[in-house]
Amino acid sequence: MENYKAFEITENEDGSFSQAIVTKDVPSLEEGHVLIQVEFSAINYKDALSSTGNKGVTRQYPHVPGIDAAGTVLESSDDKFSVGQKVIVTGHDLGMNTDGGFGQVIHVPTDWVHALPEGLSTQDAAVLGTAGITASLCIDKLLMTGLKPEDGPVVVTGSTGGVGSVAVALLSAMGFEVHAVSGKADQHEALKALGASEIFGREELGESSKRPMLKARWAGAVDTVGGVPLENLLKSLKPQGAAAICGLVASPELNMTVFPFILRGVNLLGVDSAEVPSSKKAEMWSLMQKHLAVLAKYQDWVTEIEMDQLTEYVEKILKGLVAGRTLVKLV
Ligand code: NDP
Repeated sequence: MENYKAFEITENEDGSFSQAIVTKDVPSLEEGHVLIQVEFSAINYKDALSSTGNKGVTRQYPHVPGIDAAGTVLESSDDKFSVGQKVIVTGHDLGMNTDGGFGQVIHVPTDWVHALPEGLSTQDAAVLGTAGITASLCIDKLLMTGLKPEDGPVVVTGSTGGVGSVAVALLSAMGFEVHAVSGKADQHEALKALGASEIFGREELGESSKRPMLKARWAGAVDTVGGVPLENLLKSLKPQGAAAICGLVASPELNMTVFPFILRGVNLLGVDSAEVPSSKKAEMWSLMQKHLAVLAKYQDWVTEIEMDQLTEYVEKILKGLVAGRTLVKLV
């Protein structure tokens, strides 16, 4: 294999950005690296930002986005991985400033690569991908506080999004009562089928309130949106409750008092899935492996596209219109 196809973003002289499918040369294998033929990637919110020129995600263009890549080892400089082995890479610098999974080949440090967990195809692994790792890390942090199903319901915001929908499915599989917040009225039944018992529109948490605390409703929360919804859910956690937070699609702001933390002992837990140590990622793959039944339930939440549909779906995800995971088929 001498060259491969990739969805590349270029910065134009006038500061605008262009997207095109290009042919690139397969790089030579460097020491400490693995060359992988990508079979599946998936579109994450971060990929949409990178694909539209967000310098907070990608500093230098031309660049190939795609923070998730599942495929087959073409060449390896480390005997930890053998040619033909199925592997998955999520996060680290993949798709940020290292060419990512929206290309048919990636060349990445060995440390970033995980053998495909048993029982998963490359397609399954990409369905879970960063969304699955992030949802698992959020749940893992909640469990570390001692949260148990009998403590009360757990609320998930951005619940039809990639991270949110996997969190709903996993929490439900673990026996939690799950409440979902979603802006998509047409997805309420699908969220119920995924495991949510109560669904609220975004307006439930959307109004800014001057009150330092609100009625205590939830024992836990997975928040993917930030801003006012996060403020309201932190004010609505039960004593000793916990919120694991990872996203900012509503806003990166958090404007509130310390009262829920110092009067109710509420815990605010941050999650960064990109740079979490590889050993922790492996632990999260094991956690997901224990709940593989979730994948069968998740089938209706997967849309599979080809590289030439990326422009359309990048726009959709930026507008919050996508439900579930959009897989990109590369071969
Ligand atoms: P998606 O676009 O798949 O999901 C986001 C969901 O949020 C949407 O589907 C929508 O769900 C909801 N939403 C969209 N816009 C708004 C809005 N203005 N106000 C409230 N809700 C909104 O994104 P991902 O699941 O890939 O990522 C979610 C967030 O988590 C992003 O901010 C992303 O950057 C972050 N993230 C962080 C990671 C980390 O390691 N910290 C890793 C992965 C993601 P609905 O219509 O159901 O309300």
